[in-house]
Amino acid sequence: MRECYRFAFLVVFAWFLKGLNASAGDIDPQYRTCVKHCEEIGCIDQQCFPQCKFSSDGVSVDQPWYMQEPLYLRWKQWDCQSDCRYHCMVKREGEREALGYDPVKYHGKWPFKRLYGIQEPVSVAFSALNLSMHFHGWLSFFILLYYKLPLKQDKKAYYEFASLWHIYALFSMNSWFWSAVFHSRDVDLTEKLDYSSAVAVLGFSLILAILRSFNVRHEATRVMVAAPLLAFALTHILYINFYELDYGWNMIVCVTMGVSQLLIWAIWAGVTHHPSRWKLWTVVVGGGLALLLEIYDFPPYEGFVDAHALWHATTIPLTYIWWSFIRDDAEFQTSNLLKKSK
Ligand SMILES: [Zn+2]
Repeated sequence: MRECYRFAFLVVFAWFLKGLNASAGDIDPQYRTCVKHCEEIGCIDQQCFPQCKFSSDGVSVDQPWYMQEPLYLRWKQWDCQSDCRYHCMVKREGEREALGYDPVKYHGKWPFKRLYGIQEPVSVAFSALNLSMHFHGWLSFFILLYYKLPLKQDKKAYYEFASLWHIYALFSMNSWFWSAVFHSRDVDLTEKLDYSSAVAVLGFSLILAILRSFNVRHEATRVMVAAPLLAFALTHILYINFYELDYGWNMIVCVTMGVSQLLIWAIWAGVTHHPSRWKLWTVVVGGGLALLLEIYDFPPYEGFVDAHALWHATTIPLTYIWWSFIRDDAEFQTSNLLKKSK
């Protein structure tokens, strides 16, 4: 247990540092000088960036008037900073590697190599695979429910948690979409969209875990359980978007919501006689182990595969098993209800 606290502390501390935007790499004086110089003259060694050719008052040095639109200009100036930071980081990491030093973080992030302008191509690919896994799972759930299993006379499914899983699928696909966008290009907006979507899916799946494991079927009771959790998740999303993106606090909220639903499913898997409870166990244990990858944060191998990317990889097979459990549950519950009605 003490180890757990230490891990938790390390995670929170790392996120706190990220919040301050200070990492070992970007406090390196040589890196700082490089970025400052690059932003002033628009070049690093022989490599020059045309987007840096704007003076500080926003007037273009040698561009026509239409290039001086404020928004466009601001975007380009931001781009100059991003390019300078990236190329100075690559340069500095090369020098450090030659001296036999290990990689360090810059502005809270490991030194990733860009691929076609994509910041973390491996994480993007895995996010896209997670999205497609959810789509596949949802589609097969939908086909099972409405085309394979018997329906009520009003053409509705017998399974009472169907609509909740539909909403869950939409939240999940939404969060993986924004995860892919965020890992392609890390800016303030994409970061907030990614974090907000993650909070939304975590909050909703916590509600689902409670409703399903306690088999809450009455509408009024469902609303009573869901309302405070929905209110909390929504308040937290508004907080990180419009008040302050506090990384430490956000981490605590996400880990609490994630761990509590894993615990709920684990306890339920232990007491239920559900025929597919081993799938629940697999997802809970796998999910817990995968979380270790997020905690044992190591630098990207060859500049591409880091712990976070591997973490996104492990959720792909887990998602497959998860949707397979949901389909089993629909079948199991439907046959139970049919037996009762006979
Ligand atoms: Zn990610």
